[in-house]
Amino acid sequence: MNVYDGQRIASMLRGRGYTQTDDYTDADIIILNTCAVRAKATDKVFSALGRIRTEKKPDAIMGIVGCVARESGADAFKRVPELNFVLGPQSYHKLPEILDNPDIKLLNIDLGGLEKFDEMPQMDASPAVAYIPIQEGCNHCCTYCIVPYTRGREISRPFDDVVRDTVHAANTGAIEICFLGQNVNGYKYTDDSGKIYRLSDLIDAAAKLDAIKRIRFTSSYPTEMTDDLIDMFRTEPKLLPFLNMPIQSGSPDVLTRMNRPYSLDLYIDIVDKLRVARPDVQISSDFIVGFPGETDSDFEQTLAIAKRIKYINSFSFKYSPRPHTAAALMPNQIPEKTKSERLYKLDELLNEIQREFNESCVGKIMPCLYEGPDKTGRHAVYRTPYMQQCIVATLDPNSPQMANIEITAANKASLRGKII
Ligand code: SF4
Repeated sequence: MNVYDGQRIASMLRGRGYTQTDDYTDADIIILNTCAVRAKATDKVFSALGRIRTEKKPDAIMGIVGCVARESGADAFKRVPELNFVLGPQSYHKLPEILDNPDIKLLNIDLGGLEKFDEMPQMDASPAVAYIPIQEGCNHCCTYCIVPYTRGREISRPFDDVVRDTVHAANTGAIEICFLGQNVNGYKYTDDSGKIYRLSDLIDAAAKLDAIKRIRFTSSYPTEMTDDLIDMFRTEPKLLPFLNMPIQSGSPDVLTRMNRPYSLDLYIDIVDKLRVARPDVQISSDFIVGFPGETDSDFEQTLAIAKRIKYINSFSFKYSPRPHTAAALMPNQIPEKTKSERLYKLDELLNEIQREFNESCVGKIMPCLYEGPDKTGRHAVYRTPYMQQCIVATLDPNSPQMANIEITAANKASLRGKII
């Protein structure tokens, strides 16, 4: 979501004559687009601001947008007096106000809903992977999560608006569409005639566009995985066989305290249905270890579900207490050392499963999307349908954007392959 927000802001600034620089000491405007999901992310924002304020050009405009802006509000100006603006994740369309009046202090952390989508100009050009937000906010009040506070209640965007943005992306360079939402598969829009649109309808509309070769969506909530959506994995070949569906913990007790009211049986049932619909589908998850009250036995159940589902490309984190959340006030907070030990164990397991999966890909031919040169500038990086990074040894300036690649080698982090 932040990548998308950043692209919209960059496009708007280009429209006003700005160009992008990687050197903030030379910038006329500096914007930190921020994430508040963990305390560490918030801390990094303020430490970066401390550095930037002493090194930036004296008259450069500096501000923060996103969830840390919403979390900190006016307090951010007290902590960093050089800040010119603090704009929440639903207010960054107000940026032109500060560009027109750089002498004011602009604070807006309102939860304005969908205004930003209408008020920001369309992007000038789409990257090959176009992120298209289809909703804002979340109604699942997971007890550890700050998102309902920073992004507000869930609102689905009108179907026609999402289709308009998808067509625009396809016409301006997109090859892959990634529909975005905090609870993306809960998308539900009712038009004036009473017709209800779901995520499956959006996938269907995107698949009809010739320029679009790949479609995915993130992030899914298990109980919103409706049959029409599962069926899309059977019927729509452009929908990638890869799904992020966070389970967070394998312990029913922890899930209850997290206020994630699904049983492991239900979760496994959904995965089984997906695998019947699309036998090559792979699932990714997010995990939180060291949630308040998590026992060794709870943690063992998390390891057990990870082994059973064989998650790939997953994200695991130590529980981080966040303001405005119920879990931050729960008793039995877990010591950092225990959290670190559990995270290490879980990561070892997830890495091992990833390595096994990557190795199982050797010899296969996969349609992959060109991402760009690698860090050395000598090799081309492609993304497989499972979001694995695949390095192709030669970098052709005319690298095809979509290529069939034979996977020739694998390790736990990436694949190697050759275009055939
Ligand atoms: S479903 Fe996701 S975004 Fe919504 S409250 Fe839970 S963790 Fe946060």
